[in-house]
Amino acid sequence: MADVMIQVENLTKNYGTNCAVDQVSFNVHKGEVLGFLGPNGAGKSTTMKILTCFLAPTQGSAKVAGFDVFDQSLEVRRRVGYLPEDTPLYRDMTVLEHLDFAASMHGMKGDRVQARIKEIGGRCGLVEVAGKLVGELSKGYRQRVGLAQAMLHDPDILILDEPTGGLDPNQIAEIRTLIKEVGKEKTVILSTHILPEVQATCSRMLIISGGKLVADGTPDELRAREKATRYRLVIEANGAAPDAIKSKLAALSGVVGCEKVDGEPKTHTFAIDGSAKSDLRKALYQAAVDSKWILLELTRQAASLEDVFRNLTTGEESKS
Ligand code: ADP
Ligand code: MG
Repeated sequence: MADVMIQVENLTKNYGTNCAVDQVSFNVHKGEVLGFLGPNGAGKSTTMKILTCFLAPTQGSAKVAGFDVFDQSLEVRRRVGYLPEDTPLYRDMTVLEHLDFAASMHGMKGDRVQARIKEIGGRCGLVEVAGKLVGELSKGYRQRVGLAQAMLHDPDILILDEPTGGLDPNQIAEIRTLIKEVGKEKTVILSTHILPEVQATCSRMLIISGGKLVADGTPDELRAREKATRYRLVIEANGAAPDAIKSKLAALSGVVGCEKVDGEPKTHTFAIDGSAKSDLRKALYQAAVDSKWILLELTRQAASLEDVFRNLTTGEESKS
């Protein structure tokens, strides 16, 4: 087992009576790019603020690189680079001044500093804007400045809160490439409420919903887990009113969900979720014969991560 870089145990954070993070436990190993996925208000930012020592937990513990975030926060901060959700930048500094300032905040001194700024500025694609005011930069460039300042002191662990939030598709692609590059040598946690983001960048994902951890695994493991509990059939039928077909389908034994979806014109298309123990195909065919519908198509869909995410987090959109 590779080195554990982050160890979170029963982490809980209450804001007054609102429990934002509820008994969350997980580990992150060296070299992982972990996606922290969940709807708005799930508790992602709160967890990240605790891991970066900006908030104290109400209960439970978190260790980063072996150091307790509460008792040994200085040691933790040395080893962690943090990109907060709303990157706080001084708009009237130039990019270079900003990185200089960030270096001094990290306690970096000596000849090494300028070389390091140059190196990280280069990696983050900031060379051509080095003399520009931060306030004049596009959101994509500002995000790169945020990333650069998080990486300046060469931390082992990067914690990035919605690093692609508010960016256009080209900028998203650039930041993803950068994160993947960084992920080859560092441990990275990034949060997002967008599933494809995780699929594109992460080796492992946690899903958090309403402050609770509801899934932890590689994208393949989560898909397999979904497959073990249910499967989805898509059928196309005509010859009866859609509502009549739907209510008959929904009543079949083994059906756990049935919804009408968009499909070919002049036919009615339904997505049916069956429990893994059942085989609905025969019953569906029989229902069509009995009710004189015409069954035009029946296909089985592989479980997608979309399904996993939806099933685990529905009803948990932002409580705020
Ligand atoms: P996410 O980053 O997943 O969108 P947050 O961690 O920001 O979620 O928020 C989790 C919950 O905690 C939400 O219900 C939010 O309203 C609440 N919350 C976040 N920050 C504060 C705060 N400073 N004071 C009170 N409640 C907060
Ligand atoms: Mg957030």
